[in-house]
Amino acid sequence: MKKVIKYPLVLLFFCILGFILYSLFIDTEKKEMNKILKNTNDDYAIIDKYFIYGRSLNIEGHIDMVEEIKDISLVLKNFNEEEIEYDLKYEINDKLEFKISDEINTGINLDNIDVGNYYVLVKITSNDETINYYSIKNETEYKNNEYYTITKNDKNNKILIDFGKYNLEEIKKEYMILKVKKVNLPENVYDIVIDPGHGGKDSGALSLDEKYYESEITLDYGKTLKESLEKLGLKVKLTRDGTNEEELGIYDAYGKNGRAVIPNNVKAKYVLSIHLNSLPYKIRTGGVEVYAPTLSNLDFAKSLADNIVEYANTNYSLGSTFKEDDGVYVRYLTDDDIESSIVEAHNNNYEPYDIKPNTPYYFMIREIGGIATHAYVDGRNTDYGENPYYDSNFGAETYLLELGYIVCDKDLNNILNNKEGYIEGITEAVKNYLEI
Ligand SMILES: [Zn+2]
Repeated sequence: MKKVIKYPLVLLFFCILGFILYSLFIDTEKKEMNKILKNTNDDYAIIDKYFIYGRSLNIEGHIDMVEEIKDISLVLKNFNEEEIEYDLKYEINDKLEFKISDEINTGINLDNIDVGNYYVLVKITSNDETINYYSIKNETEYKNNEYYTITKNDKNNKILIDFGKYNLEEIKKEYMILKVKKVNLPENVYDIVIDPGHGGKDSGALSLDEKYYESEITLDYGKTLKESLEKLGLKVKLTRDGTNEEELGIYDAYGKNGRAVIPNNVKAKYVLSIHLNSLPYKIRTGGVEVYAPTLSNLDFAKSLADNIVEYANTNYSLGSTFKEDDGVYVRYLTDDDIESSIVEAHNNNYEPYDIKPNTPYYFMIREIGGIATHAYVDGRNTDYGENPYYDSNFGAETYLLELGYIVCDKDLNNILNNKEGYIEGITEAVKNYLEI
């Protein structure tokens, strides 16, 4: 009889204790919120666009004010009221318009934020030195997002980017918050995706003697690069590995297992698509071409090109079209490309795509980036299928590596006999860029 009474009592005791602790915790959190949000302006900083590209969180917005200001920054403020500050670019027209960066891969580096909760605020210093904080109101169609940091020393953080409404006592406020906590990377989340170009019925380019296929070389390189990047501690996924490719539907780029879809399915931050270049005739000098996204800083592309040239003992390509720097290329859709896509639409009876300026030419770079890279394959052209992430505000930063020319003997011999050199060069560039 005694026992029957005792256990429910112990249970009740722990329930009450738990409830008290929980209430205290909630209370502290509310007090902290109250303290920070109470000190913000009645007006909001309104977000018109926000996206995550690679590791970068980018925000664009406006405040309804026209007076001249001294300084404006974006602030991450934690509950201890410590601030991390990021400069904002701004322009005052009929309102104050601000953004973090003009480059899609330069923004708030999400991998560099310590564990904690942070309010995202806009901080304005006026000409008379008074400081005003503005809470953020999200007027985009995008709500919360989940981001996982790149694996370093076997460790990962998860960042919940969230928007909320806060009602307590005298304060009613909308806000943006980043919640950073340490986690184990979920099984279906990866750091980086390697895409061995072509495959299946699509052999890609052929060597002049027709002995070597681009699709076979890229697959061999992809597998070796995966092992090499895994030695850095990165979690790496291949879009194809030579098995079951047809059944899995890898070649349907926008299908469930399509090469343009896998990277966002697994929340990868980076994609390297491996190719060999070609021309309809033999050339004596070939070389490396790294294709980067439009509107981005070219640091990673440059580092990839430089390290491949150095470690593989090869040279930069002599190609000058779309060239931005030695070995670095940014190919975008030209007016002619856009014109022909309109003609194609008319011929196939669908409404032409609304293609924005500076849209990347290569579908892997464009479609994997979502809104950051102006992806547009929305299914209206039934020949292409539909990219489920064309409208997404998170996307992986994608580079297309043309390691050399398959129609250049010097390049082909080097690629066939000096795989370690190329792999080492790429690995070195990844290691530096990701700060591993
Ligand atoms: Zn190719």
